[in-house]
Amino acid sequence: MKVVCRICAQPIDDNPGKDLAPATSLGALHLSCQKKLFGSSLPLLPTLSKSDFLGERLQTHTRRMSISGMQPKLSVALTATQSELKIHPVNMEREQAGVLILKPDPNEFPNAAVLEFFGMHHAQRFGIDTPAIALLDLPEFSQPVFAIRRFDRDLRGNKTAHVEDAMQVMGLQRRGEDSKYEGATAEEAGRGMWIACGKRRQVAADFLKRLVFSFLLGNGDHHLKNISIIRSWRSREPNYDSLAPAYDLVPTGALLGDSEMALTLLGTSQNPEFTDSFNQLGFHTSEDFQELGKRLGLPEKYTATLCRNLRNFFQLKVIPSVERFPFLEDQEGLRIKLRECLEDRLGKFSYTNKKIK
Ligand SMILES: [Zn+2]
Repeated sequence: MKVVCRICAQPIDDNPGKDLAPATSLGALHLSCQKKLFGSSLPLLPTLSKSDFLGERLQTHTRRMSISGMQPKLSVALTATQSELKIHPVNMEREQAGVLILKPDPNEFPNAAVLEFFGMHHAQRFGIDTPAIALLDLPEFSQPVFAIRRFDRDLRGNKTAHVEDAMQVMGLQRRGEDSKYEGATAEEAGRGMWIACGKRRQVAADFLKRLVFSFLLGNGDHHLKNISIIRSWRSREPNYDSLAPAYDLVPTGALLGDSEMALTLLGTSQNPEFTDSFNQLGFHTSEDFQELGKRLGLPEKYTATLCRNLRNFFQLKVIPSVERFPFLEDQEGLRIKLRECLEDRLGKFSYTNKKIK
């Protein structure tokens, strides 16, 4: 079996002198990939245990079942000595800030970590801006743990950016947890974020891209807390700069068989609207996203090209990769579920293709 890097998922040439990080219990890494994620080429020394995760478990109660709500998380800091880089839980007394977040599988959803890595890895491949990620082995965990860099801090834990999620942008943060699904439609959230970023067309375009990507990935949990905007910490501009890097892109359809979209696409939360195509078929096709693109002020041609590129990407790259994705090698049952979920979404998306040829 080939040795594969836990950050880029590409094979590693393990001959001496090649791009190989010093061996650790975390799994094999390219040295260049390690530098990108950890900002250091020192040998890595994880000093954390399973019990560190217990107090961090987020308990949220919503009507919908959500994986992120059940997922234990741990914020970790990095401390360099002369000979190694320690990875350890943040020290509250020293007011240390975490720079990486570690997410093991919740008991209820085995394989959530590898599926999140799969979703985020392919988002990167498509050119969606994401933080650095990895799928690491940790002591005491039988399954690998998903790791992601915080995008609002540098590697020393200093704050580098203001971030606001779509719940905050829409002024819904005081309402209950369910409003992350019901408080606004995608059309309202997309418009709200576009306005908060000074009406930059790129923001509407990126927003739509992530929504279509999530649909095709089978991510039924792309709700208002999972989309954010970002502004440099030093910026004096009243507006935000752009969408924040993407996160929480999990093919939840392969785990839960849950709904296709976390958000209603069109209209307002008070008056949701549906396309004729949706009313006839009962599921979303590319036509629904074409309509959303139009309402967000994007040229028809742009949305058509985006839909075509994403459809081709899933057909030619993502679905074929399921069988050879290194971290799914010994998981035949999961590969079947994931493949079924991806094929179901692609079939629906492509169903009536009058506009996309
Ligand atoms: Zn790598």
